[in-house]
Amino acid sequence: MNIDLHCHSTTSDGLLEPSAVVARAAANGVAVLALTDHDDTGGLAAARAEAGARGMGFVDGVEISVSWQEATLHVVGLRIDPDSVRLRTGLEWVRSTRIQRAERIGEALERAGVRGSLEGALAYVGNPEIISRTHFARFLVESGYARDVKNVFQRYLVKGKPGYVEHRWASLGDAVSWIRASGGVAVIAHPGRYGLDSAELKGLIAEFKACGGAGIEVVTGSHTPTQYREFAGYARQFDLLASRGSDFHGDAGSRADLGILPPLPGDLKPVWHDW
Ligand code: AMP
Ligand code: MN
Ligand code: MN
Ligand code: MN
Repeated sequence: MNIDLHCHSTTSDGLLEPSAVVARAAANGVAVLALTDHDDTGGLAAARAEAGARGMGFVDGVEISVSWQEATLHVVGLRIDPDSVRLRTGLEWVRSTRIQRAERIGEALERAGVRGSLEGALAYVGNPEIISRTHFARFLVESGYARDVKNVFQRYLVKGKPGYVEHRWASLGDAVSWIRASGGVAVIAHPGRYGLDSAELKGLIAEFKACGGAGIEVVTGSHTPTQYREFAGYARQFDLLASRGSDFHGDAGSRADLGILPPLPGDLKPVWHDW
């Protein structure tokens, strides 16, 4: 079964409206899709309606921004209830800190000689509560500061570069508890992207499981095929449910398209085993 449990729409930093994400997934042969916008569930109703009209399976999801030790991590919640008060209240708080961070990014870029970036980024935003580095990146590319989004992150928006600001997101325990309180299952998103060594990854997984987390992304558009094998190993070793998702953002060039990645290794227990 072609199941894709990680992607983005204009509700966060994707380029396609929620219904258009579903239409594209259908065209690519996806049978079950989860929309997992950053820190916001506002696109789920439209996506679910579109999926229903097409007879496609749909899973309510979210991708929560987390600070763990010195790292920023993402935790995906699947089969969440977007009406859960605890989840909603938590996400509202995370979104409010995004706006404050964006002002600091704008100031930092101003000091680096980039003018008007907050207003510029806001012009790319689809949801005024979710302004992300992706929106700054699109503005910087459009303004000629770098040739593409990947390049602009490397030069301006990652740790140590002029447009990067420190920020405290949700704690790991809070993110997992909001997901679980809403009836969802918590999954560590793209664990290969955080630059953690194996001791740190083991520490993260132990803490994640102690908080009630259950799954890990193995096959994702943010991993290389070598990392599929590496994180399949972690799933086996730590008895984690395995997930598969493109992390599609609409700009098909920069990451995997919906539903095209290889299946999970057959011996892993998929996160959807009991759905
Ligand atoms: P934020 O949550 O505002 O810090 O933005 C994070 C988002 O930026 C991620 O979800 C990705 O979509 C995007 N992103 C992060 N790093 C990169 C990168 N090196 N190249 C392209 N996009 C990136
Ligand atoms: Mn993103
Ligand atoms: Mn992510
Ligand atoms: Mn994502």
